[in-house]
Amino acid sequence: MDCRYQFVLAVWPMTSTRLLADCCAELTAVADLELIDAPVELKRFSRDAYDFSPVLREQLEGCCADVVVRPHTVAAVAVVAGACTRHGIPLTLRGAGTGNYGQCVPLQGGVVMLMGALSKVRHLDPDTGVVTVESGCLLRDLDQHLSRLGRQLRLLPSSWRSASVGGFVAGGSGGIGSVRWGFLRDPGHLLALEVVTAEDSPRQLQLDAAGSEALNHAYGSNGIITALSLATAPAVAWQEVMIDCEDWSEAVALALRCTRAAVDLHLCSLHERPIVDQLPHWCGASNGQHRLLLLVAPDGVSTLERLAEEAGAHCKVWGQEADRGGTGLRELTWNHTTMHMRAVDPDWTYLQMLLPQPELAAMKVLKQQWGDDLLWHLEAVRQQGVQRLAALPIVRWRGRQSLEQLMNDCRQLGAVVFNPHVITVEDGGLGVVDADQVAAKCRYDPKGVLNPGKLRGCL
Ligand SMILES: Cc1cc2nc3c(=O)[nH]c(=O)nc-3n(C[C@H](O)[C@H](O)[C@H](O)COP(=O)(O)OP(=O)(O)OC[C@H]3O[C@@H](n4cnc5c(N)ncnc54)[C@H](O)[C@@H]3O)c2cc1C
Repeated sequence: MDCRYQFVLAVWPMTSTRLLADCCAELTAVADLELIDAPVELKRFSRDAYDFSPVLREQLEGCCADVVVRPHTVAAVAVVAGACTRHGIPLTLRGAGTGNYGQCVPLQGGVVMLMGALSKVRHLDPDTGVVTVESGCLLRDLDQHLSRLGRQLRLLPSSWRSASVGGFVAGGSGGIGSVRWGFLRDPGHLLALEVVTAEDSPRQLQLDAAGSEALNHAYGSNGIITALSLATAPAVAWQEVMIDCEDWSEAVALALRCTRAAVDLHLCSLHERPIVDQLPHWCGASNGQHRLLLLVAPDGVSTLERLAEEAGAHCKVWGQEADRGGTGLRELTWNHTTMHMRAVDPDWTYLQMLLPQPELAAMKVLKQQWGDDLLWHLEAVRQQGVQRLAALPIVRWRGRQSLEQLMNDCRQLGAVVFNPHVITVEDGGLGVVDADQVAAKCRYDPKGVLNPGKLRGCL
């Protein structure tokens, strides 16, 4: 039967009670598998951080798993995958549940599988630095493990303390480190995957870098990742630097100069004045100026000081990031900026885009239209080998139509918008179906049980 046709059949109106009971009966006897069915837990494990989006909040609020399972071994993962496939029960994977687009929300109920107990660091190659780790390992724990051996992760989301490595690869895109290393889907980051298929008799596969690409950022819709191999970087004692600028144009120009200088940067984040006023003050109180937050290698600090001085800006060096107890400057950046703003006023939401060049002209037009209902938050990134500015503007919620209009205006001005108010892989990306992702779903999830409704190419 044509694979696409099977997916159409696999769109369940609702999980059948009978099939679910049969599936659960099979799972109760499995060693190394916890079954959770307390209603409060079912609800807890059926949501993620989608409430950043009023659109998704409305759409996803009612979705709930029928049962939650937590496997402690890869063998138990395979048993769950087999039982769900044979009984036609939707199976949604969950790392730490910090995704922003409802990636791990079970749209059609069924089983939610918690991957957090598979958390071993299996191997670190001393010659190449390549690390092989189980998918549920928290990025914080992995980074700590690596730092003891003189290595560190190249890319981290700002949610790195709570997020899992499998969830980052399957649901995230980049973050801290993107100024130097680009994005997770760039070739060279993800080098191999261990995957369990969703078939009547699940297989455990070892995929090389090329074979792994289709599962990267596929929301766990085309394979269950049980372990992955990632490239790492030599550890650097990152220094926290903050630069305050009076003028927005000058602040943007300075951010660009910093990213083009011969310094090793891990982060370069720029916040418009009203954002600085509202952020927690662990990198200093606001002094009514726009603020650049940077992580730089020790030998780059004096260069940043010089660039700031030439721009008439005020530079403050906070010192080594590792010496700061508790939260650091990095937790004021990327989507943590949005989170902090929403903590002050939950009417804020956000957008994500790559700004057109030159950046200032487009920003000016949008600012004129939206005034203080749109606050600029920029992140320097490397996009296909070129230094660019991404924007995660904080946007006042004025209703769905206004948000759509704003996204259209951004596109008209030349921005590439990554819509964070949609649930499918494609709609949140470039809007096009990735044939390799669909082919991988046909191969590894032929009955379409994995996270149904999230891969538009298979709806
Ligand atoms: C405050 C805040 C800041 C954030 N900052 C960033 C950022 O800087 N950059 C960024 O990219 N994201 C960011 N995010 C989003 C999110 O935190 C990250 O993408 C994170 O890495 C997701 O990891 P997780 O373990 O929580 O994944 P989950 O939310 O649990 O899952 C994400 C997706 O991966 C799938 N998945 C999970 N485990 C597996 C597996 N073993 N096999 C296959 N699929 C699996 C899930 O089904 C889901 O579709 C942020 C979120 C918040 C709330």
